[in-house]
Amino acid sequence: MAVATGGTRFYLGAHHANWLARVDVPLFVSHRRLAEYEPASMPRARGPWALDSGAFSEIAEYGQFRTSPRQYVAAVRRYADQVGRLEWAAPQDWMCEPAMLATTGLTVAEHQRRTVANYLQLRQLAPEVPFVPVLQGWTTGDYLACVGLYQAAGVDLTSAPVVGLGSVCRRQATAEIGDLVATLASRGLRLHGFGVKRLGLARYGHLLDSADSMAWSAQHRRQSSRLPGCAGHRNCANCLRAALRYRAAVLADLGQHDRLPQPARTASRATTKVVTFAGADLLADAEAVLLAALEQVQTPATASDQTGLAALYALGRALAAITERRVATARADGLSWGQVGGLLGMSRQAARQRFATTTDHEQRAGDQARRWSA
Ligand SMILES: [Zn+2]
Repeated sequence: MAVATGGTRFYLGAHHANWLARVDVPLFVSHRRLAEYEPASMPRARGPWALDSGAFSEIAEYGQFRTSPRQYVAAVRRYADQVGRLEWAAPQDWMCEPAMLATTGLTVAEHQRRTVANYLQLRQLAPEVPFVPVLQGWTTGDYLACVGLYQAAGVDLTSAPVVGLGSVCRRQATAEIGDLVATLASRGLRLHGFGVKRLGLARYGHLLDSADSMAWSAQHRRQSSRLPGCAGHRNCANCLRAALRYRAAVLADLGQHDRLPQPARTASRATTKVVTFAGADLLADAEAVLLAALEQVQTPATASDQTGLAALYALGRALAAITERRVATARADGLSWGQVGGLLGMSRQAARQRFATTTDHEQRAGDQARRWSA
């Protein structure tokens, strides 16, 4: 299980801010979602994440921001403090898609002016918060003009750790955006592509430092589709499993090795019953392995990415450890080898041969658990 090695960082777009507390993969979460949380119930991030200001939805729905820069700064400070592990925050930028201009009745130049002015104001209000400058425009010429606006304001984009590239998500897979990215990257900008998905990443992903996408959700919503094995929801538009599966596919596209995602070590309600048989830690680990295996078994393995194989092998060992623990409990409760064999569909002798050595000592199951989780 290799750790992701450099390359383009992919932030998985998440509707549910509580995923921050559930998985440790890089997430992209909107201010609109986090704002719903009371301070006491704010999720604590287990992995790195970046904050979306919700600009796209705000402008599309209201033609303006309902949150003032001061209010936004206060909110982001709260997230940085209470959620933790915030890598950067998007400013309240103004997209330049024709539909957005139609909503506001303003020009590309005015959207750019407001975008740059907002970044400067946020930076002034909260120099300690990692707000990132965002380039807006429609044509390559527009974007270069936007670079000029930052320059004129004394902002050297080549020294910024992240420069957001806006208004590309709806046309991210076109040659036009490929050329734009190449032009900006050749100027030494470390770009984050907002809403750049698999087709865009295939074209020019190597020129981006990072990207985010929630395409997995739109796909499942549009097709009203559900992954095999998913239950409890009509489609997978809000499903963590579907999201992680999409992420695995993106990383495979990017030629990156992934380590297994590690869900939080809390047993779900569905497994509470089984936890009485196996230790809570053992079960939580098994859940993590199961989730990872389900996600990755459907991603075709390549010569350089055999992560799915490791996940499957780990899953087999996890199930063996849990089974052994349960048999040990059954024996401790007074069941005979004949009764255990009956439950497992094997003879008394076969059950004894298979499990006697691992149930002889209470410690054995624990040893087993440690071996496969090591
Ligand atoms: Zn699902």
